Amino acid sequence: MKKTDVLVIGAGPSGTIAAAIIKKAGYDVKIVEKLNFPRFVIGESLLPRCMEALEEAGFMEAVKGQGFQEKFGAKFVRDNKDVCDFNFSEKHSGTYDWTWQVPRADFDKTLSDECEKMGIEVKYDTEVIDVNIKEDESSVTTVKYLDGSTEDIEARFIVDGSGFGRVIPRLFGLEKESNLPTRETLFTHYVDKNRDTVAQEPNRITIYVYNANTWVWCIPFSNGNTSLGFVGFPEFFSTLTGTPEEKMKFLINSQDELRERFGDCDMVFEPRVLKGWSATTEKFYGNGFVLTGNVTEFLDPMFSSGVTLASVSAQNAAHLVIKKLQGETIDWETDYMQPCMQGVNVFRTFVMGWYDGDLHTIFFSKNQNPEMRKQICSVLAGYVWDDSNPFVKNHTKQVRTLANFLRQTQPSLLPA
Ligand SMILES: Cc1cc2nc3c(=O)[nH]c(=O)nc-3n(C[C@H](O)[C@H](O)[C@H](O)COP(=O)(O)OP(=O)(O)OC[C@H]3O[C@@H](n4cnc5c(N)ncnc54)[C@H](O)[C@@H]3O)c2cc1C
Repeated sequence: MKKTDVLVIGAGPSGTIAAAIIKKAGYDVKIVEKLNFPRFVIGESLLPRCMEALEEAGFMEAVKGQGFQEKFGAKFVRDNKDVCDFNFSEKHSGTYDWTWQVPRADFDKTLSDECEKMGIEVKYDTEVIDVNIKEDESSVTTVKYLDGSTEDIEARFIVDGSGFGRVIPRLFGLEKESNLPTRETLFTHYVDKNRDTVAQEPNRITIYVYNANTWVWCIPFSNGNTSLGFVGFPEFFSTLTGTPEEKMKFLINSQDELRERFGDCDMVFEPRVLKGWSATTEKFYGNGFVLTGNVTEFLDPMFSSGVTLASVSAQNAAHLVIKKLQGETIDWETDYMQPCMQGVNVFRTFVMGWYDGDLHTIFFSKNQNPEMRKQICSVLAGYVWDDSNPFVKNHTKQVRTLANFLRQTQPSLLPA
């Protein structure tokens, strides 16, 4: 039977970052990945906080070498006239004030190639189908290859970074319903030939408000393509007719700014649909394993928090796995689950605040408090563990109070 110190399930950002940090501490690590890379995955706009994880994993130079689109901020646009543009350099705290926008197939392949260069075995086309944890917390994981044959791998510890595959939660019955309602997206990549002429800066994500419950992401890449996706309730999409391409064209043409930019552009692939992505798990750890990234909890694409939460959870998990392998006793609840939940909960407040309108009120207010802007900017940059930031420490209260204050005291300053 094959043996390793740590078996990592999934070669996405959370799996590769955890694997690299553990490998650098001198342990034998193997990654098993269900698909062959490069593979498409959605989640293309990063946040500055994930750069610290990429750095610790030793991936920075390789990623820089790919020439991905640099991202310096996030812009929110309503009715083509209300614009709220956050530049990460104005943020309250945190190290990085830039990051990248990446076609994930290339980005994830870069990270997994770096793992291989570090001596980590990355086995593609290898699907985990069973995990058995023994009394001493070591485990036997059964993987299945493309030809249908299976093999067992013995490990001292498992990191489950299987994303929407949710391997261990599914096998161990740990899945829990999210408190967010089901939403859907229709998205594609466009050949963005009008990018320069219609003066859209490529160096930030732009979020367009389409209607009260529907929004659009616009994420330009350095290869000249731009990712565009509509997000809303399934009922909204069910009113549209035709092929995915026809639905996308209809949506683009129904909004002036999008029509001007993308109306005559080619799509790189037929628009795809995803829905019901919000998911969570009872516990992010257990005897012999830790969950990282999307397997822990995934909220919503609004605010692009996914890869950052995945990267930071992987970083934290890796530190604890190293201590565990060194024989220390780990308080997973305090040292892992709670920090993970803090990050998730700050973003949950922002996601809910966007959908209930509080953040529309705050972002599109014409009278913004400069200090609070900086604090909000830090959250948008992914620095959601800094308790010196009131929008982190008391996130729910701050967002609600500020929105109410603006509504009550300055109605004339708010856009109609
Ligand atoms: C519509 C939408 C838009 C999004 N936009 C953004 C965005 O702009 N920015 C952002 O940061 N995030 C975004 N996200 C979230 C982002 O996609 C994820 O948070 C991120 O990919 C999580 O990384 P991960 O490493 O946890 O998982 P993944 O990147 O999903 O990697 C998991 C890997 O595990 C493999 N795997 C699965 N099952 C098995 C198995 N049984 N055996 C072996 N391997 C397995 C998979 O093949 C996959 O390669 C978006 C999500 C959605 C749904």
